[in-house]
Amino acid sequence: PRLANQIAAGEVVERPASVVKELLENSLDAGATRVDLDVEAGGVKLIRIRDNGSGIDKDDLPLAMSRHATSKIRELEDLEKVISLGFRGEALASISSVARLTLTSATDQSNSGWQVSCEGRDMQASVKPAPHPCGTTVEMRDLFFNTPARRKFLRTEKTEFSHLEEVVKRLALSRYDVAFHLRHNNRVVHSLPPAANQLEQERRLSRVCGPAFLENALHIETEAAGLKLWGWVALPTFSRSQADMQHFFVNGRMIRDKLIAHAIRQAYRDVLFHGRHPAFVLYLELDPSIVDVNVHPTKHEVRFRDGRTVHDFIFRSLHRLLAEVRP
Ligand code: ADP
Ligand code: MG
Repeated sequence: PRLANQIAAGEVVERPASVVKELLENSLDAGATRVDLDVEAGGVKLIRIRDNGSGIDKDDLPLAMSRHATSKIRELEDLEKVISLGFRGEALASISSVARLTLTSATDQSNSGWQVSCEGRDMQASVKPAPHPCGTTVEMRDLFFNTPARRKFLRTEKTEFSHLEEVVKRLALSRYDVAFHLRHNNRVVHSLPPAANQLEQERRLSRVCGPAFLENALHIETEAAGLKLWGWVALPTFSRSQADMQHFFVNGRMIRDKLIAHAIRQAYRDVLFHGRHPAFVLYLELDPSIVDVNVHPTKHEVRFRDGRTVHDFIFRSLHRLLAEVRP
């Protein structure tokens, strides 16, 4: 409980996209290599995520929905080392208090699956048998059915779905080893097989960011002093119509950081063009002990022990790459 209190209790459920983020992160934390996402009415009516992860034990199923039920950290110091995406142990509890939630799961130990349901704050006491392969299906129906005030803040189906899709895309760009399938109102929106090499990664990139991005992008992969930068940066020939094509991941986690944004902008400005927003999908990998991922998981923030070195590394790497192709 002390630990639980030390962890900021955030408002997890704002809209369908935030539900999908939490559920997808749980699937990834459980080691899933494939997730199937079915969504109806922008995610308000239905969000169903099926994964092939480790599953939840029969005895743990009812617990998973109770507050601070996390199985993921033992000590606060672990936070520093946690690369795993979720750690608050309140996502399922929060979702179950504002929607109808059903968990069905099986582990490789259990020879069948088990199911537990929750509606508003009413937990159905019994865990009943339900066939399921190893992994978990989380089904959420009727978001905010019991909180009309919050329902009022939801936008159109189209808008809610585009937020939700953005979350899926972001995670798809952070985990090439996982297959993602997304359907909206029974229509396939994304079907992304796992990508094991650069060619396959670029195929996914093209589906997620659009073929024009890839056609106008340079691939980068460079390493120095324990820092690795890889990914794709667009050339000025890529005329960006979409509002946001800036994806930066630190150790697999998407972040927004002024220092990094500055390094990238500076490199572009120095070599290529002025005043335009660069487009990129970039990955920085470094020793987790020299970066603090902010303890508040919904904020995309980091703090580097040695920000200067990180800044200069990114600036120099991109500068070198772009200078090679300067017209
Ligand atoms: P947290 O992810 O912060 O631990 P959650 O409320 O999101 O908290 O989930 C509670 C617990 O339920 C997790 O710690 C995990 O043990 C279990 N769990 C949730 N979703 C899954 C899943 N898809 N596969 C396996 N276990 C899961
Ligand atoms: Mg979680």
